[in-house]
Amino acid sequence: MHAIAIHGGAGDLPRQMRSRAREALYHDGLACALDCGYEVLERGGNSVDAVTAAVGVLEDNPLFNAARGAALTREGAVELDAAVMDGRDQRAGAVAAVRHVKSPIELARRIMEKSHHVLLVGAGAEEFALEEGLALVPNTYFRTPERWEELDALHSGRAAPELEHSPQGTVGAVARDAAGNLAAATSTGGVVNKRTGRVGDSPIIGAGTYARNGVCAVSATGHGEYFMRIVAAHHLCAGVEYRGLALQEAMRETLARLSELGGRGGLIAVDGAGRIAMDFTTRGMFRGARDSAGLRQIAL
Ligand code: ASP
Repeated sequence: MHAIAIHGGAGDLPRQMRSRAREALYHDGLACALDCGYEVLERGGNSVDAVTAAVGVLEDNPLFNAARGAALTREGAVELDAAVMDGRDQRAGAVAAVRHVKSPIELARRIMEKSHHVLLVGAGAEEFALEEGLALVPNTYFRTPERWEELDALHSGRAAPELEHSPQGTVGAVARDAAGNLAAATSTGGVVNKRTGRVGDSPIIGAGTYARNGVCAVSATGHGEYFMRIVAAHHLCAGVEYRGLALQEAMRETLARLSELGGRGGLIAVDGAGRIAMDFTTRGMFRGARDSAGLRQIAL
């Protein structure tokens, strides 16, 4: 049994953006990433290949808050975070606060596979990307007119204050390949109007991203500060591993713990048997799931 689930962020489309045409674009963006990751599994590829392929597609899609189209800092720049974890041996690679790496998830993977480190940030991470021959782009490449307008609306008081520091459109994927290996990947621009240097949960192993073979693989989206405080992705896996909870139950319990602190968001996970769970406490979560038993689901 092979299976993959993806998310394109917890939250909701701002009211002015809600239209059938717009929803169709999100639907198609998710379908494209889901099928791309699934194809990798179908061809016998491993779970790390599948999650990085799916996340890479969403990074390139300007509708989502990762790489191109990422949320802006309060100075109007883009700073990107990403992580990948291989459940086989629990190797992990992560990157935070990079401004020029075209595909942060690809860099996270190189860090996992080619460096002796788990997390590289800022200039050092970009130096490593350069050495690895990864594509570097000007920061303006990531900035879309919609994101600029969003920041401007906040600064001029035209946008609802709740938008500030709110999560939106982070992307992630979890997969189980035919050999039973689990992997998770997450990529984000963080929260809108964040301070320069702010790092969220996505690149923090155990908070926004986690995978352990035989247990589960998890990717989170939502208020990163809260996910970090409860070490959410690891908390979910620990519920399955040590308390014997079913995946869905462990996910509910993790989200409830988050709510107790005042945080909201969503989680996707796949367990050792290829069962998928996707749940959220926000109004919605862009998400999709597909498996070799015939499931194919996309929902906003
Ligand atoms: N969790 C991400 C962060 O806090 C934001 C999001 O999920 O949209 O950086």
